Amino acid sequence: MHELSIAMSIVELGEEEAQRQGVQIKAIHLKVGALSGVVPEVLRSSYEMACKDTPLQGSRLLVEEVPIVVFCGHCQARRTLSSTQWFCCPECGTPASEVVQGKELQVVALEIAA
Ligand SMILES: [Zn+2]
Repeated sequence: MHELSIAMSIVELGEEEAQRQGVQIKAIHLKVGALSGVVPEVLRSSYEMACKDTPLQGSRLLVEEVPIVVFCGHCQARRTLSSTQWFCCPECGTPASEVVQGKELQVVALEIAA
């Protein structure tokens, strides 16, 4: 399962940080692009599983879903796509050649318990 191995590496990263700083992690903020191949719901439940019996047990994974943004050469503008199936500019229909955003899979912040 793809998501589980990702969840486990996130937990590992959190554990390392918690140990290094001597703190407790309350939540981990993650950016997940629509093109990353990760299903946020599956990742969230995998995270809970991966947290079991670690210092991160009870912490939360907060997923920010990042939409796909392409650059349309015809419009000379960035366009947000509403679907991963239709890779064309929503304004003029030109096939999108450049993906600006949407491939992210990135930990952006660790929330520390006070
Ligand atoms: Zn366009």
